[in-house]
Amino acid sequence: MTKLIIKNLTKTFDDVVAVDNLSFEAENNEFVALIGPSGCGKSTTLNMIAGLEQSSSGDIFIGEKRVNDLHPKDRDIAMVFQNYALYPHMDVYRNMAFGLSMRGFAKKDIETRIFEAADILGIRDLLSRKPKELSGGQRQRVALGRAIVRKPEAFLFDEPLSNLDAKLRVQMRAELTKLHRRLNTTMVYVTHDQVEAMTMATRIVMLKNGVCQQIGPPMALYNNPVNTFVAGFLGTPPMNIIPARVVATEGRLHIATEGFFLPVPDALQPLWETLNNTDFLFGIRPEHLQCRVGPKPENTEKAAYVQMEADIIETLGSHLQISINCGQKRLIATANPSLSIEHGQSVVVAFDTSKMHAFELESPHKRVVMCEK
Ligand code: ATP
Repeated sequence: MTKLIIKNLTKTFDDVVAVDNLSFEAENNEFVALIGPSGCGKSTTLNMIAGLEQSSSGDIFIGEKRVNDLHPKDRDIAMVFQNYALYPHMDVYRNMAFGLSMRGFAKKDIETRIFEAADILGIRDLLSRKPKELSGGQRQRVALGRAIVRKPEAFLFDEPLSNLDAKLRVQMRAELTKLHRRLNTTMVYVTHDQVEAMTMATRIVMLKNGVCQQIGPPMALYNNPVNTFVAGFLGTPPMNIIPARVVATEGRLHIATEGFFLPVPDALQPLWETLNNTDFLFGIRPEHLQCRVGPKPENTEKAAYVQMEADIIETLGSHLQISINCGQKRLIATANPSLSIEHGQSVVVAFDTSKMHAFELESPHKRVVMCEK
């Protein structure tokens, strides 16, 4: 059963179209992340689902029910905010009990639910504390607890981890994933942090200026982004994207840029043929450019090798991140951490030719050739 259906949802504020004809579905038990840069319409979408904001047009279904005209409290969803929104004068127990009391739950039932949620979140010993006596992470757990006790149809999260420090964020990320598994409930999670979306979501909905760019499982968006915006948003460092042209020389297609001239392997020639004599944007992720030193090997069906110059070398422990000069542009590549490379040194860059992307030159730079699935 589909838990949440968003159909042609639009929201305008005067002349600003905050959300533009957005449609997506969250299946039962799915964890959907709404992502995109600041101002792309994530919070407005979530607020419309919660009923905190009226939509200009479109439909919202929770379960079988169209909820557009329902009051927020009647929508059977719980929202967790970035700022936790705890009542400062109430202790943790009362913070968690408040919503249930308002709905007329019996005292005993409230207690059972609170103890159950407190045990899941490991906050049983904090129940008598006031919010000001809690750390940021503990406050976030209380906010989660307040949502859990309601046993809602769906949870909505609006950047719930962004007030936590980096280490705690990583920890809470894992805890939220565990919580999702344990509660088996539909969750919609708003974030501008692509790592959170990649690590937690079963599906990502990516927005730009209120318009949906792509929907799919995290790795589908990562491996086959529909345009340069999606390609650049997911992944750190982002995909290398540089102007290029496909040219045919000596019976073989090549990808020509200011910095390299790369033969397209036999098996991929039909795929790239559509771009023959065309300018386009060439894309390849840093992990698909591997630097090595020594003689240049023969090209294979899987890899093409180009001699290039290393510029900036950064040691990241697990690997080296190397900035490669490519005409006026730069490419970010990776290398084994044991490799000894110096600034200005000539290196052999292995292009994983099955992972090359091509995007149209014209905005919105749609993908025209996609890499292997
Ligand atoms: P952030 O990551 O910064 O929270 P967001 O993706 O959640 O951003 P929204 O808060 O949904 O973006 O805002 C989307 C657009 O709608 C923005 O251009 C914003 O300025 C505009 N907007 C949001 N709320 C209002 C409002 N109440 N009145 C007028 N414009 C608004």
